[in-house]
Amino acid sequence: MMKQHITLLIFGVLVLKYGTFLEIRAPRIAIVGGGIGGASASHFLTELFNGSLMIDLYEAKTIGGRLATVNIDNNEIEAGGSVIHPKNMYMQKFVKLMGLDHNYLSEQKYGIWNGDEFVFEESTWYIVSMAKLFYRYGFQLYRLKSYVDDIVKDFGKIYDLQDDGKSFVNVTELLSAMNEEFPRLLQVSLKDYLLQKGFTERLINEVVEATTVVNYGQDVDIQSFVGLISLAGAGVDLWSVKGGNKRVPEHLINSNKYVNVIQSRVTIVRKKEVIDDSYKYEVTSMNKDSKDSMTSSYDIVIIAAPLTHDQEFPIKFAGFLDDLVFPGDYQTTYATFINGDLNPKYFDLQDTLEAILSCNPNKTKISSIGKVNSVNGLTKINSRIWKICSRESMESNLIDNMFSQVTEKEEIAWKAYPHYSTNVRLDKFKLHDAIYHVNAIEWAGSAMEMSAVAGRNVAILAYNDFVQKYNFTSDKEVYKDSIGKVEL
Ligand SMILES: Cc1cc2nc3c(=O)[nH]c(=O)nc-3n(C[C@H](O)[C@H](O)[C@H](O)COP(=O)(O)OP(=O)(O)OC[C@H]3O[C@@H](n4cnc5c(N)ncnc54)[C@H](O)[C@@H]3O)c2cc1C
Repeated sequence: MMKQHITLLIFGVLVLKYGTFLEIRAPRIAIVGGGIGGASASHFLTELFNGSLMIDLYEAKTIGGRLATVNIDNNEIEAGGSVIHPKNMYMQKFVKLMGLDHNYLSEQKYGIWNGDEFVFEESTWYIVSMAKLFYRYGFQLYRLKSYVDDIVKDFGKIYDLQDDGKSFVNVTELLSAMNEEFPRLLQVSLKDYLLQKGFTERLINEVVEATTVVNYGQDVDIQSFVGLISLAGAGVDLWSVKGGNKRVPEHLINSNKYVNVIQSRVTIVRKKEVIDDSYKYEVTSMNKDSKDSMTSSYDIVIIAAPLTHDQEFPIKFAGFLDDLVFPGDYQTTYATFINGDLNPKYFDLQDTLEAILSCNPNKTKISSIGKVNSVNGLTKINSRIWKICSRESMESNLIDNMFSQVTEKEEIAWKAYPHYSTNVRLDKFKLHDAIYHVNAIEWAGSAMEMSAVAGRNVAILAYNDFVQKYNFTSDKEVYKDSIGKVEL
């Protein structure tokens, strides 16, 4: 009897010390959100846990999230996130891994409009356009480009850091690992930052403003890190995914046999009682079609959706000692698709342009207008499909003035990206012991690649925390061997 007690005692001490004996098992993980951020997190988690895991991925609406298409005149057109920088290595990697193809975006003849006149109008002759740009901005544009190239180079350091298993608990830490100067950029407006660097007001108020307006619907008073991302997005060799950018999250999620998609909206994440030295979480969700709710328990919860008060599917956090607060709001951008002819007279143009960028959106009412191609390549010759981006919904009479022969019109209102300022923020990727938030990254900059980077960051954080807590090792087959085997 005495011997039995001693054995039990030793076992108890070991359990207390390592906390592992009762819990060595594959983790149950909830991912909330099936956009590119949730898809990236699911991919990298599966890779890290080597397939020894179980993921429930909750999606309230459609896999892809802000990557979606719209059908106009029998063409699929990008409706949300559309262009990808050539140095966005995760988007490149995913496209290759999933056997998808690139769509290279054709050059468009564009002009920058302030509502009274075109401050710059591209010519059909390259040399004439260059001369016009040089006459108006001197060497400033060249300097700006090489400056932005340096930023993109520093941003690229994140790939080696993540390959080495580095992870970051908040946005500031992640940015300073790329360049110690980067966190400071969040507190200086793009305009002030570029003025300090010696760029002229004219360049900032015209060219730079046009890029922040077209990419983020906001002016040059946004914080400078996201402003520089916006400038990088005005470069050359931009591309998108053939068949639609949404195919990347669709493929990453649907071809991963460890991911179980649950078509429901998560309403509550609750911390349960402490058991065996580990916190467990309950996720409550509501089915799309019924009013029934469902609750499941998880070791790890990854929120891959924005958490500001203005979101369509708010999530309540219950049972946490510290308040989890998510200040700020998202900028609404209206994407209006028109099948019609641009009316050059309205804009005082001799020839029609393929893209008009506003550098004064309060006056122009539009942020941008551009001819768009199908996600499968060029639309039919003489395509008449245009996309207008604006801060307010476009009034019908304004559309009728800007276009003629309109046969089709469709508007999508997006909670598109954060409303940026230079206010101090403390956005965290790690919200609690094993709760992580991908979209904290959006406050540094919102883009597909940013969500992909953040998805990998939270995957590494979650994996390291789990391994440390449970002394976990996996023994299943290598994920890379299984990916792509499942037919969609
Ligand atoms: C009009 C527009 C143009 C853009 N242009 C570009 C561009 O050219 N290049 C670029 O790189 N980026 C661009 N972006 C930004 C880019 O699209 C986003 O940064 C990126 O797609 C965000 O991905 P995500 O997975 O983090 O979030 P999301 O795509 O928003 O995914 C979150 C998902 O979570 C789901 N969800 C939310 N709440 C819940 C809940 N409670 N329960 C269950 N599911 C929930 C949502 O339905 C959604 O599917 C653009 C965005 C917009 C809107």
